[in-house]
Amino acid sequence: MANLYLTHKCNRGCPFCFARNVLKESGSNIDELLTIDDIKTLLAHFSGQFREIGLLGGEPFIYPYLREVLDLLWQHKIVPKIFTSATNPLPDGIRNLDIAQQPINFVVNTGTKDSYSKKQYKNLIDFFDKFHIVSSLSYTILDFDSDPTFLFDIIDEFKLFSRSIRVGIALPIYKGGNQYVDKKDYKKSGKFMVKFAQMAYERNVILGMDCGFTACMFSPSEIGILQRCGVNFSFVCGAALDIGQGLNAWNCFPLFQLHRENVLEADSLDKLIKKFNEKINEYFKQQIGIFAECANCKYLKRGMCEGGCKSFKSI
Ligand code: SF4
Ligand code: SF4
Repeated sequence: MANLYLTHKCNRGCPFCFARNVLKESGSNIDELLTIDDIKTLLAHFSGQFREIGLLGGEPFIYPYLREVLDLLWQHKIVPKIFTSATNPLPDGIRNLDIAQQPINFVVNTGTKDSYSKKQYKNLIDFFDKFHIVSSLSYTILDFDSDPTFLFDIIDEFKLFSRSIRVGIALPIYKGGNQYVDKKDYKKSGKFMVKFAQMAYERNVILGMDCGFTACMFSPSEIGILQRCGVNFSFVCGAALDIGQGLNAWNCFPLFQLHRENVLEADSLDKLIKKFNEKINEYFKQQIGIFAECANCKYLKRGMCEGGCKSFKSI
C-alpha cells in the first residue's frame, strides 16, 4: 500500500510526529498541498497497481479537497484508508458518506486521554458515532507511564467493529528532531507492550505491531505471552512508500531526508520500492542493525528480525 501525503497542516502536534521535518526539509510552505492534478497523474501512471491507498498528513480532515480525492480513488476502484486523529470537526465532504455503498477505512491515531482538549475529544466522539463500523485504532508508545486502557473503553462504548489496535513505537526521524524511545529503553518498551497486550486480551482486543520493533526487546517467555494474547508480531523495517507534493516519494517519514524519488521515473510500484531498497542499503551498508549484537544475531540470520529502525543509524 502507498500513502498520499496530502497536507503539512495538523492541529495535534504529537511530540513523536514522524512527519515533523517534512515541511522544513522539503523547502515548501505550510499551505502547499498535494494537488488533484498530481493525484490524477499518479493514478494514470500506475493504472491498476493500487488496491488500497492511505491518506495522511498532517491531518487529512484539514485538506480542502478530501472528498474529491475519495471520489477519484473510488472511480479507480481503490479503497481509501484515512489516517486521522479525528479531532477536527468532520469535513462536509465526508459527513454524509454512505459507508454501505462507498468502501472506506479509517485508522484513528490516538494519544493519551489527557492529550485531548474538551473540543477535540467531542469531535472524536462525534466521529466514532458515525464511523465506528469502519474504524480501527492506532497508538504510539512513547511514555511508559501512560495508560492506554481508555482505548478499550472507546472500542466498547462505540462498538468499534475492529477490536484491534495497531501499536507503533516512537522512532527517531533521520538525524533527530522528534521525541522517540531510545534504544537503551527497548527492553522497557517490550515490558510495556506485553502488559498492554495482556490488558487488551482481558478486554477481547488484539494488538498488532507497526515497523521498528525488535525481537530482542522481548524475552522468549514474553514472546510466548504475546503469542497467547493473539498479538500479530513482526520485527520488520520495510518501505511504506509515501507520496507528496510534486509526486516526490520517500521510503517512510523517518527517512524523508535521506532520499526522495519522483514516482514518474519508475514504471511500476515494485520498481520504485526496489529503488528505495537499493538506495537505503547502499547508504547503510556498513551497519547491519541498530545494536552491535545485530551482526551476529541468530534472529537476523533466520530473517526473524530486520535489526530495528534504520533511522537510528543516523543519530
Ligand atoms: S526505517 Fe524502517 S522501521 Fe524505521 S520507520 Fe522506516 S520502515 Fe519503519
Ligand atoms: S537483529 Fe539486532 S535488533 Fe534484532 S533481535 Fe537481533 S540484536 Fe536485536
